[in-house]
Amino acid sequence: MDIKKSSNYDSWGRVFHYDHYVMRMDSSVDYESNPDLIFSNLSSTKDPKKCLVYGQGRSYGDSCLLKDGLLLDSSSYSKILSFDDKRGVLRAQAGITLDEILRFVVPKGWFLPVTPGTKYVSLGGAIANDVHGKNHHKQGTFGNHIEKLLLLRSNGVFECSLTQNEDLFRATISGLGLTGIILWADLKLTPIKSHLIDTVNIKIKNLDEFFDMSNKYDSDYESTVAWIDCIAKGKDLGRGIFMLGNHAESYTKPYNPNSGRPILSVPFDFPNFTLNSFTIKLFNLAYYYKQIPRVQKKRVHFDGFYYPLDIISKWNRIYGSRGFYQYQFVVGVDKKDVVTKCLEKIASSNMASFLAVLKKFGDVSSPGMLSFPKPGYTLALDFPNYHEKLSKLFSDLDELVLEAGGRLYPAKDAMMDRNLFCSMYPEYKEFKKYVDPLMASSFYQRVFE
Ligand SMILES: Cc1cc2nc3c(=O)[nH]c(=O)nc-3n(C[C@H](O)[C@H](O)[C@H](O)COP(=O)(O)OP(=O)(O)OC[C@H]3O[C@@H](n4cnc5c(N)ncnc54)[C@H](O)[C@@H]3O)c2cc1C
Repeated sequence: MDIKKSSNYDSWGRVFHYDHYVMRMDSSVDYESNPDLIFSNLSSTKDPKKCLVYGQGRSYGDSCLLKDGLLLDSSSYSKILSFDDKRGVLRAQAGITLDEILRFVVPKGWFLPVTPGTKYVSLGGAIANDVHGKNHHKQGTFGNHIEKLLLLRSNGVFECSLTQNEDLFRATISGLGLTGIILWADLKLTPIKSHLIDTVNIKIKNLDEFFDMSNKYDSDYESTVAWIDCIAKGKDLGRGIFMLGNHAESYTKPYNPNSGRPILSVPFDFPNFTLNSFTIKLFNLAYYYKQIPRVQKKRVHFDGFYYPLDIISKWNRIYGSRGFYQYQFVVGVDKKDVVTKCLEKIASSNMASFLAVLKKFGDVSSPGMLSFPKPGYTLALDFPNYHEKLSKLFSDLDELVLEAGGRLYPAKDAMMDRNLFCSMYPEYKEFKKYVDPLMASSFYQRVFE
């Protein structure tokens, strides 16, 4: 197997730049019978000492990186192995992307049960971070829909499900790639009658309206989420657009699998000054006022509703070479005041960008041991890399979130230290038992070791 040294593997936030040893996983190779093809490349005395699977690098921080370690690039490990069209269960190699899955299953009348805000993530990455989507209040997390998976560890191969190697299954769902290499997984899909989504966008004047709308609409809509103008302050704090969607009940247009392809690509890093508080303010104002009526109803392709950002590939370059951070937390349903306080701090810092999303999580519990979602409110925001100024803001927010019993999302995080992580995830003690001794990530080294 070819191993090359490379400095080309970054995470989405592009704050860390590491050298890695890289081995590409190959769909035609039988790793299940030959685990040594991977693990024999590791040495206890010189690099690479440990390995980690790299999916599509859509995690923002360092959970998909392993400085000086062996990255197993799974992008070509993406075969569909079987499809049960009666039950809607797809078995595929873990490097397949959600985009590839959609192209295969939508024409057959099936859809992803849960999807994050980009379809360019791998099946393995979606399991390892136990991702959530706009329908968390109905369907829980991605891990709730994994029936079985095959895990390659340095001590063997294990089929895992809720009835077989259950603990290893729970540790692997949300296991941050540390419990082993997921070779394939069985994903249970959702039946649909149409690839179109009936959407309703409602302008909200402030945070209180957001809280009211989630209570009012979450039971009638599969998907709900709000875009928030994170620059607005005072009586406008939390104003934004509340977006609701249900799959349409009938086909009105044939499905075109190519319609969601990126139409633009950012070809180079924008200068670091492009996104500053002035341009961000302008964008937020324009986005808020672009919708004139208070309520707007439309029937749209699922790409427009679930993946609006995918239309521009490599959009992370607009933050320039300094990169950017995402901050995502969740606090309980009774902690609305903490959401308000955090948003006040963020708005008055003038540092957040235009990508701010607020959602109410439901109470479907995940099988994942370290799963991030819990019932309550989750706020996610992007911030250009303002270095010390930003770490001061983050540590003020951390304090509020921790005090409220909330936590941060590892897939997005690039700053937590060990104490904070262990306080937010007391489950880490149990989880550590399942970490494969030959696997690690830079995130792991930052918060576990
Ligand atoms: C625009 C955008 C929107 C997003 N929206 C959401 C959202 O709405 N909800 C949400 O939850 N997340 C969201 N995310 C985060 C993203 O969904 C997760 O970070 C996801 O896990 C990335 O998948 P990936 O294939 O890129 O994995 P990577 O980022 O490459 O890796 C993530 C983790 O998965 C592990 N992994 C990957 N493959 C395997 C395997 N075969 N076996 C074992 N471990 C493996 C890696 O080791 C690593 O620990 C978003 C990201 C972006 C860029």
